[in-house]
Amino acid sequence: MPIDFDVEPEFQEQIDWVEKFAKEEIEPLDNFMRGGRTKSGDPIDKDGWRAIRAYTDGLKQQVKDRGLWGFHLGKDLGGPGLGQVKLCLLNEKLGRTRSGPGIFGCQAPDTGNMELIAHNGTEEQKKKYMEPLLSGEKHSAYSMTEPHAGEPGEFKCNAVRDGDEWVLNGEKWFTSNGANADFLIVMAVTAPDKPTLEKASMFIVDRDLPGVEIVRNVHTMGTSLRENYNVTSGGGHAYIRYNNVRVPAENLLGEEGQGFVGSQTRLSGGRVHHAMRAVGVCTKALDMMCERALSRKARGQLLSELQMVQQDIADSYIQLKQFRLHVLYTAWLIDKTGAYTREIRKEIASIKISAAKVNHDIIYRAIHLHGALGMSNETPLADMWMSAPQMGIMDGTTEVHKANLAKLLLRDYDACEDLFPTYHLPKLLEEAQDKFDRVINDYLAA
Ligand SMILES: Cc1cc2nc3c(=O)[nH]c(=O)nc-3n(C[C@H](O)[C@H](O)[C@H](O)COP(=O)(O)OP(=O)(O)OC[C@H]3O[C@@H](n4cnc5c(N)ncnc54)[C@H](O)[C@@H]3O)c2cc1C
Repeated sequence: MPIDFDVEPEFQEQIDWVEKFAKEEIEPLDNFMRGGRTKSGDPIDKDGWRAIRAYTDGLKQQVKDRGLWGFHLGKDLGGPGLGQVKLCLLNEKLGRTRSGPGIFGCQAPDTGNMELIAHNGTEEQKKKYMEPLLSGEKHSAYSMTEPHAGEPGEFKCNAVRDGDEWVLNGEKWFTSNGANADFLIVMAVTAPDKPTLEKASMFIVDRDLPGVEIVRNVHTMGTSLRENYNVTSGGGHAYIRYNNVRVPAENLLGEEGQGFVGSQTRLSGGRVHHAMRAVGVCTKALDMMCERALSRKARGQLLSELQMVQQDIADSYIQLKQFRLHVLYTAWLIDKTGAYTREIRKEIASIKISAAKVNHDIIYRAIHLHGALGMSNETPLADMWMSAPQMGIMDGTTEVHKANLAKLLLRDYDACEDLFPTYHLPKLLEEAQDKFDRVINDYLAA
């Protein structure tokens, strides 16, 4: 089969449009939001926010007019059904921005939750919860990690059936967007005595049900602690206490006891999307590095003329190219297979692991090359830097993915029964000598 790195001209036009749109419309919006002030120095007031909302609605309409709203979705869900490779090429462009995914209707955690309901939900759940997510009318959150444990075997938040309802009790945290969500998808233990993979179920919990308590709206490093106590603000990763929350039985998502297995559809897709956007983040960091190297002098020489700087630029380029090809290969494999098979899970684990490492290495080099400016909060590098450790933790830590990857890889091998390994040279030499003795003897006898 031929390997072709080109895309059809019509799709290239879409990619070019997204690139220009991201640069000319979304990046300025990001910068304005970062500043949080008008030119006269006043903070953005109520009217200002209304104007920004109307402006972003206009941007969303342009995206819809190009047929790119919710571009991660298949045709069955009202999306363009582009497949993962094309998704990758578009996501790379959005990765350069902060608010791009929201403007294109493909922001986490909503994207993963749409997939989750699409794969596991009943027709009623799709109508009530998935459709408003697709249209952008509602927002959601995914509530699995607990303050005392990130590992499924250790979860304590539980649900007990009581007539037509389930009663939820327990604590969850790092529920991204939980404080602002219209509903939460909660993982709760329903059969504590069963093996880990069968003991939890997922529930769709309306955020305004009695007993859903936002304890704090936890933010990541760099945001003031006082923001955590503003439990109605946007962003943040909520610490939530579920106090005797009575959830209607029809809000069980998927089969009882199949929560962990069902959640894989969400987590696998999300990991690939994060990797795609990481390509965009690192490309921007490399662009910044190259421009700075050509612009800044030290001891009368441009930084770009110093060999250690050249090495950093070359290493970053190679790392990024290899990573991008691996992400594209994974996307291609998903398109070809249409399911998260063992082969694909190997690749997804690999790119999830590399995303953290590549982000770390390239963004660190870019910060370093910018000197004090790199350490300041006056470049996008500060935000980007956060993505490196985040990428190694969210959706499963690097170590856990490495352990799983190694297990998947080892399944393709057998132990060697012999004292020495298969590639032990004296053994191979003996076999080769037997073979070539015959070759020589046959030749001489002929
Ligand atoms: C920005 C961000 C957003 C997030 N959003 C969400 C969300 O929306 N919903 C949600 O439910 N969760 C969310 N999370 C939580 C995330 O999924 C967890 O942080 C992650 O699964 C790790 O769990 P933990 O934090 O409890 O770490 P732990 O599991 O306690 O891990 C701590 C350390 O132990 C190591 N470790 C653990 N197990 C092993 C092992 N088997 N082998 C070797 N080392 C191991 C880890 O690698 C890590 O270094 C988010 C996290 C971040 C950072």
